[in-house]
Amino acid sequence: MSEEKKAAIKKIQAAGHMRKIMADYFYEMDRAAKEGSPKIAWCTSVGPAELLLSLGFLVYYPENHGAMLGSTRQAMDYIPVANSVGYSPDICSYLTSDIGAFIKGETPLSRAYEGIEGVPKPDVLVYNTNQCRDVQDWLSWYSRELKVPALGITTYRNISRITDDSLLSIEKQIKGLIPTLEEISGNTFDIDKFRHILGLSCDCTQLWKKVLETNMAKPAPISFFDETIHMGPAVVLRGTETAVEYYKVLLKELEGRVTNKDGAVEDEKFRIYWEGMPIWGKLRSLAEFFIELKTAVIASTYCNSWIFDSFDPKDPFMSMARAYTEIFIVRDENFKEKYIEDMVRKYDINGILFHDAKTCPANSNNRYGMPQRLEKNLKVPTLTINGDLNDLRCYSEEQAKTNIEAFIEQLESK
Ligand code: SF4
Repeated sequence: MSEEKKAAIKKIQAAGHMRKIMADYFYEMDRAAKEGSPKIAWCTSVGPAELLLSLGFLVYYPENHGAMLGSTRQAMDYIPVANSVGYSPDICSYLTSDIGAFIKGETPLSRAYEGIEGVPKPDVLVYNTNQCRDVQDWLSWYSRELKVPALGITTYRNISRITDDSLLSIEKQIKGLIPTLEEISGNTFDIDKFRHILGLSCDCTQLWKKVLETNMAKPAPISFFDETIHMGPAVVLRGTETAVEYYKVLLKELEGRVTNKDGAVEDEKFRIYWEGMPIWGKLRSLAEFFIELKTAVIASTYCNSWIFDSFDPKDPFMSMARAYTEIFIVRDENFKEKYIEDMVRKYDINGILFHDAKTCPANSNNRYGMPQRLEKNLKVPTLTINGDLNDLRCYSEEQAKTNIEAFIEQLESK
């Protein structure tokens, strides 16, 4: 591919704004870690962040750090370090790269932000097993290592219908965290503050949803690869005004692109659904490759995972229990299949690409016959590529690109 073609990734103007708010977020966290105040909670990506914020914690997300390790390709230096202390190369490579980096005392934050020497030390670790068991094992490692309490919510997984019993149990577990969190933070729980923060998360999630839905337009204004980057504030800053303001800016820009028919891919010919984790170390290379193929990857389960439709400040505990339980990753095959079918229709998708991520079975939905069933029901072709979120030893670029090219030829012949 020529350099000229590589430059064809269109810049999102809001990216500068995003970099600024992400830098502010990490510097604030770093300051708090150095000064010992406010307290810092580490939280899994779909853990009870709003509760933590309402109690005055700054919230840090190890999975976001895992994604940074992947996108900077530093993960490859650290995974073997975690393997050497008994954490298998077959388990979550966010976990292994993050723990490996911690053991080596290194972080991409130091390269990105001058003056930050390490990840902010936690005062408490909080997980929800809604996404997988690895998050519990991950934070438990830090709990043993740093002698910091790990608290958690256990969510039933692989479920079809969400029952009242299950929601009541989760609501009770969320409330059960409060006394310990009050003690660690030194603050008293305030229901009005909790409602306010949940309201901000609700606004953030609704704006993020609108951002993603701009891709219903033809041509689609933003690629999946850019969305994975612009999802950052929805992950780490939900529950703040900052995130709400950011998505207003991004949405306006994308709506402008829709009006001007300014697509992320020039002369968009095909529209692809990405099912599974991003391959963080290959985002740019894949984005350029799809542009060359005049194919827009425009919708994904991954980016939709930060839409929490059920947040309701009027009923904060129960709505939070529901929002964090009804997400795709918690559900059974039938639910997931129907969900993807709806997405394919909504975004007028021509083909579905499954990423089988070696170390993340929870996000590899090709393993129980779903591609075949979707092909039959939707008459839309599917392709599975093998890879991983962070461990690039599991990914053959040459093979993946050959398969993608053949897949696009198949779409052309249709
Ligand atoms: S869902 Fe996958 S990527 Fe995320 S923490 Fe669990 S195993 Fe890791």
